[in-house]
Parts: sequence; structure tokens; C-alpha cells
Amino acid sequence: MRPNRAPSHHGLLAVLVLLATVLFATVVLAACAPPSRPPAPAPSPTPSSAVVAGTDHNAAAQAYAYPAAKVQEWVREGTRAPDLPAQKVAFLTFDDGPSTDATPRVLDALHATGVPATFFIIAGPQGLGRAGAPLLQREMAEGNAVCIHSYSHDYGYLYPRRKADTEHILSDQARALDALRGALGPGYSPDCFRYPGGHMSWTGLAAADAGLTARGLSWIDWNTMTGDAEPRKKEPRTPAEAARNVKTDIAHAGNPPVVVVLMHDAPGKRISTEALPLVVADLRAAGYAFGVIG
Ligand SMILES: [Zn+2]
Repeated sequence: MRPNRAPSHHGLLAVLVLLATVLFATVVLAACAPPSRPPAPAPSPTPSSAVVAGTDHNAAAQAYAYPAAKVQEWVREGTRAPDLPAQKVAFLTFDDGPSTDATPRVLDALHATGVPATFFIIAGPQGLGRAGAPLLQREMAEGNAVCIHSYSHDYGYLYPRRKADTEHILSDQARALDALRGALGPGYSPDCFRYPGGHMSWTGLAAADAGLTARGLSWIDWNTMTGDAEPRKKEPRTPAEAARNVKTDIAHAGNPPVVVVLMHDAPGKRISTEALPLVVADLRAAGYAFGVIG
């Protein structure tokens, strides 16, 4: 029979000595490790709101981003354009955001349908100023492109009597870029710009166009739309109607190789978000892949 024994102090001491030795060895080895030891692999950074410097999108979007000057040419020239992409491409575009009610819904719908979009931002108080930078960072992180629309979005200031005021247009653009860099970082440098109301709506834009070109920007209009900013009489009442508007525009444009769809994510805009699965399904069925501008 084994005698009852008190807990062994020798045993406890042995454990403590062993622990101290291990700790000492670890510290000494770490201190002596060669400084050239390769760093541990970084965790995968995707999804990332980090902009690829000199662009308007993140690293994941590099694979499907097309320069704005090219997109403009493709829309203008249609099948006559000399260097069309191998597959037909559709660019979904949303103007006049961000807004706290519409933009998250648009982003959820894009995520659910698995396609990216290009957002043309109002960078002043009625857009970014009200809705905040996190929405822009989410747009970026989820593989979308962020382009300049305006700071003021004030037609009277930009186009008094419907004629371009070059100085106002260019200073408004510079102010928008500053605000967007504040939200997305100094590396943010888009090549895309959309005139409020569209290039097609105003006269006397040649000097402003040249000013944009000098700043590395190309303006982008559209060749199809859901009609979500049309006057009430012409506004689509159902998602099916909004999707049908896009199909009709594509047919009228002669099934062009490159499609730019105009939609909006201003406060209160819902119909295009609800129509998005239909619009995307129709475009896919017609053979279009999806890209972003920039
Ligand atoms: Zn607008």
C-alpha cells in the first residue's frame, strides 16, 4: 500500500525550472533570430476599400475595369469602333448618390446578382456631405468604381441659360475630386466624369471638355436607361416596366456592343434597385458581360 504523501515540493520546483528554461530559450532564440527572416504571409486583403493608386477602383475590380475614354468611344461609334472588347460589355451606372436609403439597397442588389456598377457621385452637401464616406468605401470594397458627377449638381451655376460656364464646371469638378479624395484617400484618381444632366443636354461644352481632358478625365453619357428620373408621366411604375425600358433602348440603339445603363441612387429612388435582377438577367441573356468604368 502506498503511503499518503503531501504534494511534492520537489515536483513543483522541477516544473517551475522547466517553464523558466523554456521561456528563457524562447526569448534568447527570438533575440538571436536573423533579421532577414521572411515575414509571415499577410492575411488576404479582399474585400478591400483600398483604391489602386491612380484609379477609381480596388484591386479586385482591375480585371473588369475599362478606361473611360474607350467606353465613350465605344458608345459613340458602336460597331464601327476599332478595338471593341471581345465580348459585349454592359456598364451599370448610378448617379446622384450616395444616399443612406437608396445606396445600401443598390449595393445589396448588386451583391445578390453578382455584378459590379459605376457610381457617379455628388460630392457636395446633398450627396457625400449628407450620406458620409462609409458608403463610398463600401462601394469601393465591393468591387465597384467611383466616378465624379458633381459637387453642387446645380444646373443654374454650371449651365446658366443652358450654356456651359467652363470656369464653374471645372472648379466644381476640382472641388468634387477633393471631397472624394477625402473619403477614399489621396491615391483616388478617376478618369471618368458625368456632366449633371448629361453632355447631350447642354451647349458650349467644348472648352469644358478640353479642360477635363487636360485633367485626365473623359465625360461619359449613356445609351440606355430604366427611366427612373423621367418626369412622373413617363416614370416606370413597376420593376418590369423599368427593365423593359432598358431592353427597348438597346433595341433602338441596334443592339450595340457596349451598353451604358443610366440609373439613380438619390434619396427615394427605388425602382431601379427593384428592377436590377431583371435588367441583369436580360443583359446576360443578350450576351453582355459586366464592367466598370475607370
Ligand atoms: Zn445627376
